[in-house]
Amino acid sequence: SAATEFHNAPDTDYAEAEARDRIASAIQSVRQTLGQTYLPLIDGEYVETAENLKSLNPSRSSEVIGVVGMISVEQAESAIASAKTAFSSWKKTSGRDRVAILRNAATLTAQRRDELIAWMVLETGKPVKEADAEVSEAIDFCTYYADEMERLDTGVSYDFPGETNHYHYQPRGIVIVISPWNFSLAIPMGMTVAALVTGNCALLKPAETSSIIAAKIAEILVEAGVPRGVFQFVPGNGSLVGAHMVQHKDTHMIVFTGSQAVGCQIYANAAILQPGQKHLKRVVAEMGGKNAIVIDESADLDQAVQGVVQSAFSYSGQKCSACSRAIVLESIYDTFLARLVEATRSLNVGAAEDPSTRVGPVIDDEAQQRIKSYIEKGRTEAEVALEMPAPDGGYFVAPVIFANVAPDAKIAQEEIFGPVLAVMKAKTFQEALDLANGTPYALTGGLYSRTPSHIEQAQTEFEVGNLYINRGITGAIVSRQPFGGFKLSGVGSKAGGPDYLLQFLEPRVVTENV
Ligand code: GLU
Repeated sequence: SAATEFHNAPDTDYAEAEARDRIASAIQSVRQTLGQTYLPLIDGEYVETAENLKSLNPSRSSEVIGVVGMISVEQAESAIASAKTAFSSWKKTSGRDRVAILRNAATLTAQRRDELIAWMVLETGKPVKEADAEVSEAIDFCTYYADEMERLDTGVSYDFPGETNHYHYQPRGIVIVISPWNFSLAIPMGMTVAALVTGNCALLKPAETSSIIAAKIAEILVEAGVPRGVFQFVPGNGSLVGAHMVQHKDTHMIVFTGSQAVGCQIYANAAILQPGQKHLKRVVAEMGGKNAIVIDESADLDQAVQGVVQSAFSYSGQKCSACSRAIVLESIYDTFLARLVEATRSLNVGAAEDPSTRVGPVIDDEAQQRIKSYIEKGRTEAEVALEMPAPDGGYFVAPVIFANVAPDAKIAQEEIFGPVLAVMKAKTFQEALDLANGTPYALTGGLYSRTPSHIEQAQTEFEVGNLYINRGITGAIVSRQPFGGFKLSGVGSKAGGPDYLLQFLEPRVVTENV
C-alpha cells in the first residue's frame, strides 16, 4: 500500500557538531536580515498596504523580526476575484503538473531547511530540534499529498456490457486557508498544498504572530511554479479580513487550524448562504484539545515520566496535541508525582536559540497573560506541586504542575495552551478512563500500562482521534500517524492521512451508454 512506500524526510542529527554549527550560523545570518517588510501577494504582485504589523521575537520581545503588510477588505475582494479568474484555467491542469509543483516545493523546502528553522526559532520561539522536525513535516506534507493525488487522479471505472461508468474527482474552487502560529511552517504548508494539488485556488491567511514564516512559504510556492492568482498570500486581521473571506459568496471551502472558539465561529459563518451564492461551503477545522495521559499501576514509570514531561512541556505546551492532564492510579500517585516534579525541574527555560533550552517562551504577551491567569486560578483550585522561575526579556512562562486537581476544575477542563499540567488521581482504571473522557475534546490521549486488558479497553473506550500507548502523545508523523480529532476538537478528516485530499474534491460519475 501507499503508506509503506512513503518515505518521511529525515530530521537533522544535532549530535553532530557540524549540524550544530550550521544552525548557529543560519540563525546568525537570518538575524542580519531582521526588520524587513513583507508584502501580501495578490494576483502575482506584491502589493502595498495601509496597515502593517510588527512581528516580534518571543524570546526577546524588543527584537523586531519584520513588518508585515496587512490587507484591507477591498484587497481581499480583489484577491478573491483573481482566484476566480485563475481557477478557470487551473482546474483544467493535469494532476501530474500539479503534483510536480508540490515535489518542487518539497525540494525547495529541504534546500532551505536551516534558514527556515532559524526563522521559526526567531519568530515563534520554537527550539531548534522541534523547528527541524517541523521542516521535515512540511516536506512530508508536500510529498505525501503529491503521492495521494497520483493515487486519486486515475479515478475508478465500473464498466458493464453496454455501459461505461467513470468515477472521478474535480476541484471545488476557492479555498481559504487560515493557519496557526504553533506549527507555522508545516500546518499552513500542508493545508495550502492540499488545496493546490487537488486543483483548487488557495488564499493563505496566516496567524498574525507567524506572518513572516508564512511569507517564506509564499516565496517557496511561487518559486515551485504555482501560477499567479492560484496561490495568494493574504495576511490580514482575522476578525475583519479573515471573517470577510469566510463569508464571501465566491469561496468554496475553509481549512482552519486554531482555537475552538474561532473554529466554531467559522463553521457557523460558512453555513450562511450569501446572496448570489450557488453552493454550500465545506469547513475543515482542527481545533483544541485537553489531552490526558493515563498512568496505571503496571506502567514503566521511567518511560511514563519522560513521556509526560515531553508531551506537556515541549514547545511550552503550545500544541493542540500537548498533554495537559496526567491521570494517575492511586497506588502509584505519590511516587509518580515526585518523579515527575524532579524531571520537570531539570528542564532549562530560556531563549529558543540557546542550544540548552528545553522550554522556550510562549508566543506573545497576550498568551503569557492568559496562561498566568490560569495559573492564578489553579492556585485556588488545586495544590501547586511545582512552579519554576521564568527568565526576563521575553514572553516566558516556566512549567507549572498542579496536583490533586478535581475533575471539574477550570484547569482540568479548559485548554490553556501553555506549560501547565494538571495531575489527577483515580481509584480504578475505569475511573481514570472516565476522567480522561470527561471533557468536550477528543484529540490525543495516552496510556502507560503493561496490563493487556487495560490496553485493550483503552483502544476502544478512550475517546480520542490519536491514541498513543506507552509513548508520548505529540509529534504525529505524516502518513504514519494521520492527525486529528473529533467531538469539539474538530471537524474533517486527518491531516497527513488517506482521506484528507478527498475533502478538497467533488466526486462525479460519468455514465455512457455504448
Ligand atoms: N501534529 C502535531 C502533533 O502531533 C500537533 C498539531 C497542532 O498542535 O496543531 O504534535
